[in-house]
Amino acid sequence: MTIQQSSPKTLNLPDERGYYGAFGGRYVPETIIPALEEIEQTYYTLKDDPNFQEELMHLHHTYTGRPTPVTYARRLSVYLGGAQIYLKREDLAHTGAHKINNALGQALMTRHMGKKRVIAETGAGQHGVATATACALLGIECVIYMGRVDMERQKPNVFRMRLLGAEVRGVDSGSQTLKDAINEAMRDWVTNVRTTHYLLGSALGPHPFPMIVRDFQSIIGIEARQQMLEQVGKLPDMIVACVGGGSNSIGIFHAFRDDAHVQLIGVEAGGNGIESGKHAARFADPHIARMGILHGTKSYVMQDEAGQIMETHSISAGLDYPSIGPEHAYLRDTGRAEYTYATDQEALEALQLLAQLEGIIAALESAHAVAEVIKRAPTMPKDAAILINLSGRGDKDLNTIISALEGEEGLHA
Ligand SMILES: *Cc1c(COP(=O)(O)O)cnc(C)c1O
Repeated sequence: MTIQQSSPKTLNLPDERGYYGAFGGRYVPETIIPALEEIEQTYYTLKDDPNFQEELMHLHHTYTGRPTPVTYARRLSVYLGGAQIYLKREDLAHTGAHKINNALGQALMTRHMGKKRVIAETGAGQHGVATATACALLGIECVIYMGRVDMERQKPNVFRMRLLGAEVRGVDSGSQTLKDAINEAMRDWVTNVRTTHYLLGSALGPHPFPMIVRDFQSIIGIEARQQMLEQVGKLPDMIVACVGGGSNSIGIFHAFRDDAHVQLIGVEAGGNGIESGKHAARFADPHIARMGILHGTKSYVMQDEAGQIMETHSISAGLDYPSIGPEHAYLRDTGRAEYTYATDQEALEALQLLAQLEGIIAALESAHAVAEVIKRAPTMPKDAAILINLSGRGDKDLNTIISALEGEEGLHA
């Protein structure tokens, strides 16, 4: 079989002002601009520094557990009766998801900037755990902001972060959830910007964060591209990933951006269905998905007529966010990637099917990608290959899954 070469067709994005077409940029208070410029400068220097890259790769090989494997999902492929399905196993990375790729990269950057303290905000706690892990490893002081309501809902993760030596600060303002934690973390950053790095968790926020997070996560696609060529002898025809802020998806898409024949599919959280209004499918509903600015970047934002940010809902905490990384908005508008959604119910069913046919309990987020493949694979020829980014494992979701399936005949005791 011939090895398919990529042709360098795509623009190198973002542009020097941090834009992906009309999206991205830097919409922050004046006081934060110097810090963003410092991060940008440091990043450009370290990106081309072989010592830094070697240090990061060494940690990935000896600590994170990279490269994560690509697994052929034989029984699932046979069951669906169409395309052959492969799984990129980010669930096997240390801490159980892809988030560690970014946390480790930025923690290393923090050390290179001579800063001694990291702050982060977390909703469900997954990014907080990854950040606390990276800071413990590198000996960096770590403060995690978390809404009181979220702390109550995610007790085991609060305990994990504290075990890892991080300080978890409860936020009592507003709705006591993620957006209030973000506000509090920003306040801290403005005050302590000289000593402190704000470790952002997804391909979001003001430039240069969407670029940095993408680049640290792009190891997923770089590995997967080589693994598909070695194991299957060709690139996948389609790549499917779930999209919260957009980091695991952009991480697997990026290495394939110039392979025009590789279809890129992002799956958002359809919640209770688009008509219900209870979802986080930012691209799906033309009445509420508009260009807007949230948390320092211009992208699609779920907002009402008056521009108020809407309440979102998803069974998976990681997909429950009213905006989406700016590069995804660009990929969608240019048609390079396609976006769809799976409902809570579809994700739950996909999670069970994958568990029973492959012995893998996926994160509820990742199950959204599996749900889309359950719809598509049967319509595709048997010699087609689909690669799913299995962004994380489901241990963290057991309580949610149990309550969702209670009363249903789904779980046989
Ligand atoms: C946080 C999380 C996501 C969503 O975040 P992205 O930045 O969109 O990748 C997806 N899957 C898992 C397992 C997560 O923990």
